[in-house]
Amino acid sequence: MDNSLDKKVVRKLLIAAGVVLFICVLFTFIHVNDVRKYYYNLVQEELSAHLDVASATINNKAEEMKDIVTSLSGEITENNNGKEAVEILKKYSEEYQDMNIRYVTSDGKMYDAEGIHTDKSLYEEISAYNASSYSAGYFSNCYKLDENSAYIRGVYRFRIGDEKVYNYIVADSNIDDVFNDAEFSVLRDLSYVCIINRDGEMVKESGNLVRDYPSEHNVFELLKDSVKDTAYQAKRVDTFRNKFVSERLSDMTLSDNNGEKIYLSIKEVVKTNSMYIVAFYKDSYVDARVNNIVVRSMLFCLVIIVALTTYIIIIWARSTKVRNVMDSLAYRDDVTGGYNYNYFRRNAPLIIQENSEEHYVICRYDIHNFRYINEAYGHRKADEILKACIAEFNKIFSKERELCVRINSDQFLALMINDIEFAEKNQKYSKAVVDAAIDQGVKYPIRFKMGIYQVRKEDRDIDIMIDHANVARKNLKGDEKVLEKTYSDSIIVEMKKVDFIESEMKKALASGEFKVFLQPKWDIVNNYVIGAEALIRWVRSDGSMVYPSDFISVFERNGFIENIDFYMLDKVCELISKLESDPLHFNVYPVSVNQSRILINNPDYISNVEKVVDKYSIDVSKIEVEITETVFFDEKVKMLEVCKNLKALNFKLDMDDFGSGYSSLSILKDIPFDILKIDQEFFSEAQTSAKTKVIMSKILEMAEGLSVDVICEGVETEEQVKTLKDLGCKFVQGYYYGKPMPMEEFVEKYCVK
Ligand code: C2E
Ligand code: MG
Ligand code: MG
Repeated sequence: MDNSLDKKVVRKLLIAAGVVLFICVLFTFIHVNDVRKYYYNLVQEELSAHLDVASATINNKAEEMKDIVTSLSGEITENNNGKEAVEILKKYSEEYQDMNIRYVTSDGKMYDAEGIHTDKSLYEEISAYNASSYSAGYFSNCYKLDENSAYIRGVYRFRIGDEKVYNYIVADSNIDDVFNDAEFSVLRDLSYVCIINRDGEMVKESGNLVRDYPSEHNVFELLKDSVKDTAYQAKRVDTFRNKFVSERLSDMTLSDNNGEKIYLSIKEVVKTNSMYIVAFYKDSYVDARVNNIVVRSMLFCLVIIVALTTYIIIIWARSTKVRNVMDSLAYRDDVTGGYNYNYFRRNAPLIIQENSEEHYVICRYDIHNFRYINEAYGHRKADEILKACIAEFNKIFSKERELCVRINSDQFLALMINDIEFAEKNQKYSKAVVDAAIDQGVKYPIRFKMGIYQVRKEDRDIDIMIDHANVARKNLKGDEKVLEKTYSDSIIVEMKKVDFIESEMKKALASGEFKVFLQPKWDIVNNYVIGAEALIRWVRSDGSMVYPSDFISVFERNGFIENIDFYMLDKVCELISKLESDPLHFNVYPVSVNQSRILINNPDYISNVEKVVDKYSIDVSKIEVEITETVFFDEKVKMLEVCKNLKALNFKLDMDDFGSGYSSLSILKDIPFDILKIDQEFFSEAQTSAKTKVIMSKILEMAEGLSVDVICEGVETEEQVKTLKDLGCKFVQGYYYGKPMPMEEFVEKYCVK
């Protein structure tokens, strides 16, 4: 059970993970563009932030340079001596090693940390930058020294004397470092970045990028080239350029010739010398990064979701397992391995509700004489039969729509569909259980005693339905032949009758309402009375008569039968004693009394009987004790003991209702019966069945061999008498010769000499 549960959990887990995965893939599929857009925006913002940092870095450098050349110019002017100037330059160069600091004069000299050189070229180059301006002060520029390196240059110009002759302090700093800076890597990797001058000429472009833009280009021309297929976009480039010229810097978006968006961002780097940093990027540049982020985000989500789902499933599976264990404790039956009564109460209403189109019956049944199987074959085999009751039911009936449980001992409860196959299936079921019992070596025929309740559409309360089935089953009790009873309102009437009997019985016994009737037993060969059977009648105070068939089984169930049977024995002993006390006037015939099977359960039975006969000191052999055949089957050992004791007290023994039970013949050899009373049912068939006649003659033959007398009960017609005579039967009891009559009447009729 545990294994199957684990498998189930694993299966469910896999299904759940599959579903989650599917949802994730679906979600990604549906939302991937939104997600990408979101990440594109993020990347753009990131790039823009990096661009700010980059421009600020270059700007700071330029500012630092301005400070350096300005302060240097002050020092050099004050000490206008060549050697001192070199010293000062040396000092500055050591301090600012990333800068190339020089001092150039109009007389063609160039000073640096190394010394004084005669080199006019730098002086001329710088003079050309700013030829139109004559004022002293700082200016800066950026320039490109070769293919790969860009510089910013800070220059401080000052006049020597009154003449319009200028000297320059020049500091050059390579800004490649800025580009190479780690801070710059995002820009470098994801966009096309360049530094441009006032005319849009690229001074420096991101070295690592080999995009679809040619180097050494004017950035505006380059952009125009990218959008040349669309006049509108080209116009936008012009607008952008005009704005740039008029120093109105703004970001913008263009669409290139392929329709892909170009995001353009521009920042001023060094204001005084109009140096700008431009970055433009396309979504496709960042695709790889975005894809990476998207995939990672999705994977992350997936892992979280799968982990969560797994966690939930594990918790759920555990609780399911706990619930299943609890269920099995609460709803399983240990003996059969099936379900129990609680399960039935919980689930039967659901099954009925779910299959409302079906007609259901509830069967409350047990195995007839199961106690005997238990005692004769042992608990293990008996348990196997109980198991078979559930297993075979599940094979024959629908597992989903029908249900069978064991309540306790051999008590079962089943919910079955009452369709046209019901009777057939039921038979098949009984047979399957019989076969299973035979397999176990149990030869005793298994018979179910079933109380059936037909469920009505309006029924709601399962307990009431079960009760009704149980009432029907109880109603079968005491009746050996009927195996099935369906609940009906008449059962309730019957139950009320039982209630009435039970409430009145004690009073009736005390007030003498129970009367002894005697029915003559007849010798049909010599045609005279040979004895009588004492049969009880309940004569109510209003004169109405209640027959034993109405109350004997009730008394047997509630134990009152003991009082009745001893009452009858007492009355019969009293009669015999009375007749015996006056032998001149009375014939004393043997009288038989019926003794119920219930009596033998009382260990004091024999001593109680003894007490009664002792009370009257009669010839005990005049009393016959009638015990029904089936008792020997149920209580064989105990009964043997009782019979022997009765014989020891000198009673005669009658086996009553011979032929109505099962193993009558084998009993005959064990118990010293004096008389065999053939059941009236058995004999009633004699006229029609040749076989019965054969059996009858064999019984007579056998009885003669065993020196046992045979009396046929229930003889009503002359024809029956004739048949019996022909068969060699000598004694009968039946209406033909006399009905049961009040004791006084019998004495009057047959005993008075
Ligand atoms: P049983 O001991 O087999 O008694 C014979 C039954 O057959 C009696 O029914 C009797 O009236 C009936 N009977 C006799 N001849 C004929 C006939 O020709 N035709 C028909 N149709 N019936 C005939 P009764 O008196 O109603 O008793 C029924 C059963 O009740 C008895 O069957 C016996 O088992 C039980 N019983 C009666 N009195 C007592 C009693 O005092 N104690 C106990 N324990 N059981 C009793
Ligand atoms: Mg009898
Ligand atoms: Mg009988």
